Amino acid sequence: MVDNPRHLYKYQHQLRKAQRSVSRKKKGSSNRRKAAGKLARLHLKVSNTRKDFHHKLSTQLIRESQAIVVEQLQIQHMLKNHKLAKSISDAGWHGFVQMLGYKSKWYGRELVKVAPHHTSQDCWVCGWRNTDLKLSDRYWTCSNGHVLDRDVNAASNIRNKAVGQTVSA
Ligand SMILES: [Zn+2]
Repeated sequence: MVDNPRHLYKYQHQLRKAQRSVSRKKKGSSNRRKAAGKLARLHLKVSNTRKDFHHKLSTQLIRESQAIVVEQLQIQHMLKNHKLAKSISDAGWHGFVQMLGYKSKWYGRELVKVAPHHTSQDCWVCGWRNTDLKLSDRYWTCSNGHVLDRDVNAASNIRNKAVGQTVSA
């Protein structure tokens, strides 16, 4: 279990303030140019902090594991869901998976991508499908009484999908 460091949330206040500062200044003025520069540097800082975290985590995961299985998420599709958009773009999932990809080659590990269908809804123990599962449900119980942590259950399904799958991405 790894906490998603919500860099954008941490910097959100500063970004908003810097953005306001730009829009308050007269167009074409040197003050506006300065404010825009400050905003750009802040964006870069957020991006670098995120990248640094992803590098450390991907190296650690690759070193510890012979094979890593990820969901092939359809980012474009998910970005349409407003609630998810922020946390996904914040997490930079795509860039992170790319890091896992080339580092797995460096270290001779295997990166497997599996289809994401129903990985959250299916009970990984018995296969019962919870079609009423909401994003806010962190824990749920299947009809056969298995108590499930949303993320651990999805991770178990993702792992099991990769068992026997020979094509590595
Ligand atoms: Zn079950």
